[in-house]
Amino acid sequence: MSYVQRVLEQTIKRNPSEFEFHQAVKEVLESLEPVFARRPEYAKAGILERIVEPERQIIFRVPWLDDQGNVQVNRGFRVEFNSAIGPYKGGLRFHPSVNLGIIKFLGFEQIFKNSLTGLPIGGGKGGSDFDPKGKSENEIMKFCQSFMTELYRHIGADTDIPAGDIGVGAREIGYLFGQYKRITNLYEGVLTGKGLTYGGSLVRREATGYGLIYFMEEALKDRGKAFEGATVVISGSGNVAIYAAQKAQQLGAKVVAMSDSNGYVYDREGIDLDIVRQLKEVERRRIKDYLQYKPQAEYHENFADIWTVPCDIALPCATQNELNEKAAKTLVSNGCFAVGEGANMPCTPEAIKVFQSNNIIYAPGKASNAGGVATSCLEMTQNSMRYSWTFEEVDAKLKTIMINIYKNASQAAKEYGIEGNLVVGANIAGFLKVADSMLAQGVV
Ligand code: NDP
Repeated sequence: MSYVQRVLEQTIKRNPSEFEFHQAVKEVLESLEPVFARRPEYAKAGILERIVEPERQIIFRVPWLDDQGNVQVNRGFRVEFNSAIGPYKGGLRFHPSVNLGIIKFLGFEQIFKNSLTGLPIGGGKGGSDFDPKGKSENEIMKFCQSFMTELYRHIGADTDIPAGDIGVGAREIGYLFGQYKRITNLYEGVLTGKGLTYGGSLVRREATGYGLIYFMEEALKDRGKAFEGATVVISGSGNVAIYAAQKAQQLGAKVVAMSDSNGYVYDREGIDLDIVRQLKEVERRRIKDYLQYKPQAEYHENFADIWTVPCDIALPCATQNELNEKAAKTLVSNGCFAVGEGANMPCTPEAIKVFQSNNIIYAPGKASNAGGVATSCLEMTQNSMRYSWTFEEVDAKLKTIMINIYKNASQAAKEYGIEGNLVVGANIAGFLKVADSMLAQGVV
């Protein structure tokens, strides 16, 4: 049995029921087989055994009082996965589906994503099974304060710097930051995605979506394609989806469908993003209300059916495993030529095989959605400098980072004889820097 298969087997055995974590580890480890053939010193130093084991996992009780005065209890998580190349960095997710396996898959992916950005940040992730939907402002604030009352002792500007993810946007980051400052008496860049009046960075809000489009632009260019004139379908209508849609439209694409966890809207004239932003960012309503403003558009229940809408480019920007083999086959048969992941692990392994065997441009999230964390790191830099860059300055840096990630991933794939395979390329390029740093730092 190969080194990779042995570690994979041990990991699955040791972490039962963490299916998303198994999926993420399997994809990364199997794509690294050619690296171990060339670099036996990694196996000797137990790099894989160590990289699949988080440096620290924190699970804690989050008690809070709802508006009726009832005691509510949620579970909080922070997984500090790997600090070989910098302090732990990764978002917080508030969603009822959150469990340790989900946080570990996200934290594991984050190690390689952060490495790919070329910036000095390690990997971590956290969150809670708290459901922000239907909660009052007061309840959201009380939850965030209780969550931070435990989390604060584990994080810090040079230790671990959380950010947003599903269910955690500027509002939640504000409440979390306020409580951190109150408990520690420190005004430091401990969270990213902050508001612009108290240390946030311009472009952070747009960064993941814009970064995805910058990455895809480069990948499309290599194959003689472009966003100009293309029909695009984007799942989700949250932070990543909205700004991916905005940049795609700026580049001349027509975005015809977007979704939320209930269903999707199809607007053959092209989605009016001002309506989506008003509904989702301001009023926190459902995507089906889009039809109140554009009655000629269609609404369909079952968000997963969004992939039946014919398109040239598909951008899954909602959640993990939202695009399966059947959906992938439908996309291919409808003439889709590129798929770029804005979400983390949105395509199942079977769907990815369909794309790869049909020569579809396929960009894995850990490379194509790295613009968010990259800009978070730029926010940390500005906080340390006590200085802010302009929108244009941050945007230009983000674009350069995304182009470099694409080049490094495609170069690594070429070097290992699998040209065009961005999954393997991204995994190898992200892994080497972390592995070499771990080798240099000894058995820790
Ligand atoms: P948001 O909470 O802003 O939006 C999430 C969107 O996806 C919403 O439209 C939501 O619908 C939908 N969604 C969430 N969960 C599900 C589900 N289980 N089934 C169907 N639809 C779902 O999150 P983000 O936009 O920040 O994150 C989206 C994805 O991008 C995630 O995978 C995240 O990990 C990834 N990502 C985010 C980054 C960031 O900077 N924010 C950075 C890199 C990756 P509804 O409102 O109905 O719940």
